[in-house]
Amino acid sequence: SGAEMARLVASRVLDVPDFPKPGVVFKDLMPLFADGGAFREVIDGIVAYHGRDSFDAVAGIEARGFVVAAGIAYATGVGVVPIRKAGKLPRPSYAASYELEYGEATLEVHQDAFTAGHRVLVVDDVLATGGTAGATLDLVERAGGTVAGFSVLLELGFLGGRDRLASRPVHALLTV
Ligand code: AMP
Repeated sequence: SGAEMARLVASRVLDVPDFPKPGVVFKDLMPLFADGGAFREVIDGIVAYHGRDSFDAVAGIEARGFVVAAGIAYATGVGVVPIRKAGKLPRPSYAASYELEYGEATLEVHQDAFTAGHRVLVVDDVLATGGTAGATLDLVERAGGTVAGFSVLLELGFLGGRDRLASRPVHALLTV
């Protein structure tokens, strides 16, 4: 159930104060990834939430989103597409930039990453301000995919990412 998923994530996240900079509480989900049974449960939970026939590909956001995406891809038999930080992809790519607290960040995807019309489930570990997710959902559509859903393990509700993503669907296993 949703409540069980939330409890499971809550039991496997470590709060790291002042990382990567003063005032930020980093939500470290490595204990969840490192626990094989818990990792499998959250992967199966995300797949069950959306329905295993509701998407044709899964996209993961660098870098912790890759772990989640690969698990879902293997569990369902769909392929995985990495959404990468600027300058990492070797072939023609689309880029989307978004505001950080200080400065700007850019994400990229190969132009031919998706089969036209493929329904793409997008995943990451943490939703904070929503800038990363917003840029990623735009990239998926520019590269020819249709966004089937967006899931994170943990949502920082007080940062308003869900509101910034407005019309987009957001699914979080745990919201704090
Ligand atoms: P944002 O674009 O603000 O929603 O930030 C989301 C991205 O940054 C995700 O890829 C997260 O992995 C990472 N992130 C942002 N804030 C945190 C946090 N407090 N703890 C862990 N990861 C975070």
